[in-house]
Amino acid sequence: MVKEICQELILSQEVLEEVCDCLQEEINKGLAKDSNPEATIKCFPTYVRELPNGKEHGRFLALDLGGTNFRVLLIQLGDKCTMDSRIYAVPQPIMVGPGDGLFGHIADCLASFIKERNLGDELLPLGFTFSFPCKQEGLTKARLAHWTKGFKCEGVEGRDVVELLKKALAKRGDVKIKICAVLNDTTGTLMSCAWKNSNCRIGLIVGTGTNACYMEKLEKVELWDGATDEPNQVVINTEWGAFGDNGCLDFVRTEYDDNIDRESINPGKQLFEKMISGMYMGEIARQVLVRLVSEGLLFGGYTSDFLLEKGSFFTKYISEIESDKAGDFNNCRAILEELGFNDATDTDCANVRHVCECTSRRAAFLAAAGVSVLLNRINEESVSVAVDGSVYRFHPHFHNLMVKQISQLIKPGIKFDLMLSEDGSGRGAALVAAVASRSSMR
Ligand code: BGC
Ligand code: MG
Repeated sequence: MVKEICQELILSQEVLEEVCDCLQEEINKGLAKDSNPEATIKCFPTYVRELPNGKEHGRFLALDLGGTNFRVLLIQLGDKCTMDSRIYAVPQPIMVGPGDGLFGHIADCLASFIKERNLGDELLPLGFTFSFPCKQEGLTKARLAHWTKGFKCEGVEGRDVVELLKKALAKRGDVKIKICAVLNDTTGTLMSCAWKNSNCRIGLIVGTGTNACYMEKLEKVELWDGATDEPNQVVINTEWGAFGDNGCLDFVRTEYDDNIDRESINPGKQLFEKMISGMYMGEIARQVLVRLVSEGLLFGGYTSDFLLEKGSFFTKYISEIESDKAGDFNNCRAILEELGFNDATDTDCANVRHVCECTSRRAAFLAAAGVSVLLNRINEESVSVAVDGSVYRFHPHFHNLMVKQISQLIKPGIKFDLMLSEDGSGRGAALVAAVASRSSMR
C-alpha cells in the first residue's frame, strides 16, 4: 500500500518523453520574438558570448547572492589560482524586507570584506552573481523579472540590480570597485567549467533552486539586440524553473506539489523548480510521510508534532537517509529520532527510505529531461555539462540517476558528461569579468 501511494511520484519513460517535448516547445516560445512576452520560460540572453580560454588572469572580487548564503570572494586567476571568501548571513527579515535594506546589507558586507583584507587601494574589478531571473540589457545591466526561492524584497522587481548596488555603495561612499559583469549562477557554473574544458556548453544548478543555461546560436535568438559579429553565439539563461507555470506540467504534478505551491511565498510560480530543488524536496517527502501516517501505514499511525510542522523534514535528510548502506538504517533511525520517533521499526525505516527515493528520483529524472532537451538542441557530438548546487553535490545517487536517464532521452550518437563545477558563482564571476574585457563582449 505504501508503494501504491508513492506510485504517482514515479515517472515512466513515456511521461518523461512528453515532459521533454513540452520543454522543447516552451524554450522555442521563449526564444521567438512574437511568443516571448507570453512564454513562461523566458530564455534571457546573457551577453556572455565567449567562453574562457584558460589564459585569463588577474585579481577579482565577486559577490554571490541567491543560494543559501551570501558570499564575498577575492579570486586570483592565473597559473596559480587562489580564492579567499567569507560567508555572510542574510537574515530572514532582510530577505523579505525592502530592497534598500538588502542592497545596503550587501554593500556593508563588501565594505567590511575590503577593509579586513586591506584591499582599499586597488580599483578591483567585480563580478556580481545574482541568481534570480533577470532581463539583461547588457553585461552590467540586469533587471530583476521577479524574485524566486525565499526572497521577496519590495522595490526591486523591474529594476536594474547593478544600479541598486552602485547606489548602495555610493551611499556608503567608502568602497571603490568596478562592476564588470552581472551574471546568473548557471552562467558562472558554465564558465568555471569551460575554463579548462573546451566542450562545455551547458551550466546546470540543482541547489536551493534549479535552472540551466546553454550556448545558443545567435540566429535562434530572435530577441538578440547586441552585436552580431563573431562569435555567432550567446549564453541563454533559460530560467527553466518557471516551466509548468502555464499548466503544461499538470499531468505530472501531484497533490503534494499543489500543497507546496499554495503555501509558498510565490504561488503559481516556479512549478518545475518546486518539483526538483532543495528548497522544496524535503517538504514534498514530508507531505507524503504525513499522508502515510494518517492512513495508518507508518509508525503505527502515530505522528509527532515535529513531523506535522512545515519544513521540519530537511532536504539534506533525503541525502543522508539514502546514504545508508542497503539493509542498514543508521542515518534514517537517527533522523527519525530527531523528528520524535524513537521506536521506528525496520519496516518504517524501509518505507521512509522509499519515500525519499521516489522524491529524489523524480527530481533527478526531471532535471535529466531538461538537460536532454538542451543536449538535443545543441546537437554536438560531445558536450560537457557543468553542474553545481547542494542537491547534486550531496545526494549520493543524483549524478548516476541523471546520467542514466539522460542516456535514454538523448539522440543516439551524442556523448555527454556531467561535471561538478568548482565554485561557479565565485570563480565563474571572475571569469566573466575577465572575458568581458575581450572585444566582442564589451
Ligand atoms: C532562479 C535562477 C537560479 C536558480 C538556481 C532559481 O530560483 O530563478 O535564476 O539560477 O534558482 O540558483
Ligand atoms: Mg550558489
